Amino acid sequence: MEQVDLFTIGAGGGAYPAAFRLAKAGKKVVMADIKGVMSGNCLEQGCVPSKTIREAIEVYRLAKKREYFGLKGENIGFDYAKIIDFKDNVQKFRYAQHAKELEEASANLKLVKGTASFIDEHTVNVTGEKFEETYKAGSIIIASGAEPYILPIEGKEHCITSTDIYILGTKIKSLPKSIAILGGGYIGIETATFFNELGVDVTLIQRSKRILTAMDERFALLLQNSLDPKIKLELGTEIKKVEKIQAGGAYNYNVAYTKDGTLKTVNADMVLMAYGRKPIVPEGADKLGVEFNKKGVIKINSAIQTNIPHIYASGDVNGLSMLFHSAERQSLVCGNNIFAGNTPIDYMDFNAVPTTVFTFPKAAYAGIMPSQAEKMGIDILECSYDFVVDAKAQIYNELNGEIREFFDAKTLKIIGAWVIGIDAELLIGELVTAIQNSLDIHTVAGLANQHPTSSEGVAKAARKLL
Ligand code: ADP
Repeated sequence: MEQVDLFTIGAGGGAYPAAFRLAKAGKKVVMADIKGVMSGNCLEQGCVPSKTIREAIEVYRLAKKREYFGLKGENIGFDYAKIIDFKDNVQKFRYAQHAKELEEASANLKLVKGTASFIDEHTVNVTGEKFEETYKAGSIIIASGAEPYILPIEGKEHCITSTDIYILGTKIKSLPKSIAILGGGYIGIETATFFNELGVDVTLIQRSKRILTAMDERFALLLQNSLDPKIKLELGTEIKKVEKIQAGGAYNYNVAYTKDGTLKTVNADMVLMAYGRKPIVPEGADKLGVEFNKKGVIKINSAIQTNIPHIYASGDVNGLSMLFHSAERQSLVCGNNIFAGNTPIDYMDFNAVPTTVFTFPKAAYAGIMPSQAEKMGIDILECSYDFVVDAKAQIYNELNGEIREFFDAKTLKIIGAWVIGIDAELLIGELVTAIQNSLDIHTVAGLANQHPTSSEGVAKAARKLL
């Protein structure tokens, strides 16, 4: 049995920042991951491949606007199989980078390929292809991530998940003519807009009366109303079943659902189930006395500790903010608290985590949204900047969208913001820094944001309140 200072279950964003930090300080660290590589599901099947595909589509979209820019070019088109090769290559490039990082890391750090399970609150077993090892650890980070949630409906086996589309080496190398997407969360909506831009006939079937129910209603509706109307949104529905239909030598699918009491059917070549992701709990964790919430998710405090102080649950596994950059920051919080002997000295500020929906158009937010502020009894001062007057947006002729900022009316400090449209994923970076540092309205309004970039709106929105 090997004795280590830190053992991580998983080697994704929730695990490796802490692992590297502790190893750098001379602590003995072992990470175990089923995949045997670092960076988890984000690189294998999540953010990186989906956003790589998105960027290829963005270039294609701009190329189609070539005459607007005064450019010429015939036969602008795409080969989806080649887009997939491009995506796979970006993934491989990043895997090689991570392998090098691991090679160059301190000799105190080891990555083991295998499945980890708990024996007791300090002991973990790893089962690999040809070995079984046991580790005794001073601290343990559970960072086992999440997997697509499968709605238990009749015909669920006929549905693919986002993993099938985005995974490294995917078998899906050609586009269907039509797709039915079940679920209007960010993965469903992003994929709907990607496929729509590539000419696929998209129907998105959502239970609620709007998309993105986990997000602020006004924000979600703004995005919903900005989507290409070619995407058919079936809202307020209940999925009944998915049936496989033989059509000549090929197959397609019928999705049956009810809407306003009427039974309806959509026929599509592919059905994507996109009901969000559910945390994976490593075997044995339930026998330790670790507390779980009603949904079966491990409970943590804002120091990312479970009720057992030397056991942490970092990243997607705690279900609080399933984003790679959130997991990375949570992992560093764990690292700092482990340094302090598992007595908290660092805490996670979930309000300082930006979220971007990488749809066409993009939409991003951070901090406290108006609906939350209302529940919290915070009066807000609100201001916005419309991209129709923005120089960069005008250059690109991408005039739809806005930057919107929310200040606490009592303290005049910025508490939240959103951006819909051009550069949303970048602009939210500056705004989240302002939110994290509680900048006041005069400071935000006084920023000399660079002209002509879309960030000008960050200051210009605030100036409207002065
Ligand atoms: P996060 O970003 O929260 O770290 P990810 O989903 O990206 O989450 O990564 C989680 C990783 O944990 C995945 O690579 C997965 O293979 C790994 N994993 C899940 N369960 C186990 C387990 N029991 N033992 C080892 N690795 C695991």
